[in-house]
Amino acid sequence: MGAAAAFTSAADVGHWIAGAATRGRGTRSQPIYNPATGAVARQLRLAEEADVAAAVAAASAAQPAWGETPPIRRARVLNAFLALLNQHKDALAAMITAEHGKVFSDAQGEVMRGIDIVEFACGIPQLLKGDYTDQVSSGIDNWTLRQPLGVVAGITPFNFPCMVPMWMFPVALACGNAFVLKPSERDPSASLLMAELLQRAGLPDGVFNVVQGDRIAVDALLAHPEVKAVSFVGSTPIAQHIFETGARHGKRVQALGGAKNHLVVMPDADLEQAVDALIGAAYGSAGERCMAISVAVLVGDVAERIVPRLAERARRLRIGNGMEGDVEMGPVVTAQARDRIEGYIALGVEEGAKLVVDGRGCTVPGHEGGFFTGGTLFDHVRPQMRIYREEIFGPVLACVRVKDLAEAVALVNAHEFGNGVACFTSDGGAARAFARSIQAGMVGINVPIPVPMAWHGFGGWKKSLFGDMHAYGEEGVRFYTRQKSVMQRWPDSIGKGAEFALPTAR
Ligand code: NAD
Repeated sequence: MGAAAAFTSAADVGHWIAGAATRGRGTRSQPIYNPATGAVARQLRLAEEADVAAAVAAASAAQPAWGETPPIRRARVLNAFLALLNQHKDALAAMITAEHGKVFSDAQGEVMRGIDIVEFACGIPQLLKGDYTDQVSSGIDNWTLRQPLGVVAGITPFNFPCMVPMWMFPVALACGNAFVLKPSERDPSASLLMAELLQRAGLPDGVFNVVQGDRIAVDALLAHPEVKAVSFVGSTPIAQHIFETGARHGKRVQALGGAKNHLVVMPDADLEQAVDALIGAAYGSAGERCMAISVAVLVGDVAERIVPRLAERARRLRIGNGMEGDVEMGPVVTAQARDRIEGYIALGVEEGAKLVVDGRGCTVPGHEGGFFTGGTLFDHVRPQMRIYREEIFGPVLACVRVKDLAEAVALVNAHEFGNGVACFTSDGGAARAFARSIQAGMVGINVPIPVPMAWHGFGGWKKSLFGDMHAYGEEGVRFYTRQKSVMQRWPDSIGKGAEFALPTAR
């Protein structure tokens, strides 16, 4: 049974190992919910160490031949995968909405941003072109090439079940590695459809594997000696754990963590544009985006003008089942997530912030069991409050008032996270100064969610990224390959006698 068929049935969701769907060896399972209804849709099989060992063994067996396959032939497989993705993009988006809850058009956008990375990875022959220097010394040439690492793993979060895995595996596979994906246990189905499409595209069995699971699967991947690199995206405490544990086991690790993204509104900004930007970026995907805007930094007199408009729009949000056409915001992912978010709203009130719009207790007729919470707006939030310092990861926007741009920059730079940041202004000089001095990995000028395109690479600063390299783009190619330098000469240029001094150019 294919992944799409399994998705519509009551069958358990399992793993994909050595080119075949499998229930695995373990007996543990956990429910997968439809967050819009609150109903259990299926059960997820959770991997044990033996399942991870089987996936890594399949990957190890398949990788040498795949790594030897010329890059252009690897690119052709990815091209075929790209065509299949385009045929099945709505099926993938529907899976995302059914398990994550985000609205269908947003899920379609997520799939497209993943497809962008596959298109980038199709250019791998050009990306792997090495450097060559003729005549570094008389009769000697020197060149560098990049070779695959072997078996690499990806551990991904619930909020982008299609796009975030595609930040990783298209580039890793294009570089000649075999891949083991451990998706989020909340919305695992898209990973299996992607595995099936890769197989149909001609990827040899074993080159791409999926193990479903929790900490047991993750720890097994981190400890496995055959896994040479780990890419992680998720919350900061887990990112730090992955980074430290992976490094202790001698692996290359990139671990992308949480965020608290600020959008600074200058007094000269176009107010309508700023309101649209804040509403979409704070409440889109119910705030469950690592690039969601959760703090509005209101400069000078902007607060008096913008807060009433934000409140009016937040109250009017159309909330419901993401598969229904005119819905703007779906549910959050689980009942626990809703309770955590609503707990933060209570905390904000206790801390003394002004609750302008209260999203708690939101119900959607016909979906009474769904995990809904409404859009929430706080004003007069102060930097020492926990609702300012901590990632809430829900539809809660905190407004902080500052007197000028310098205070706004100092505020953003003092925060422990540094993922994305935006500034809305009509002053080019202010925009330039902001972009240069702000301590965050991704900056938007009049762009609220500046997710870089496939060829630029994605990554934050400070506690939003552990490791040296960003995801995808050329940084991704560097992450999934290691450099080798070759120096060559031939007998007719070799001098006589042993050399005891370090050779220099002659
Ligand atoms: P999470 O950290 O709970 O889970 C991420 C992955 O880690 C999942 O696959 C999960 O199974 C695994 N995991 C969870 N607990 C673990 C443990 N104790 N040991 C080992 N593995 C464990 O994150 P989430 O709730 O799925 O996703 C939301 C978080 O991800 C937010 O903090 C968000 O900001 C972050 N995120 C960051 C980016 C980025 O690019 N920086 C992108 C997307 C999401």
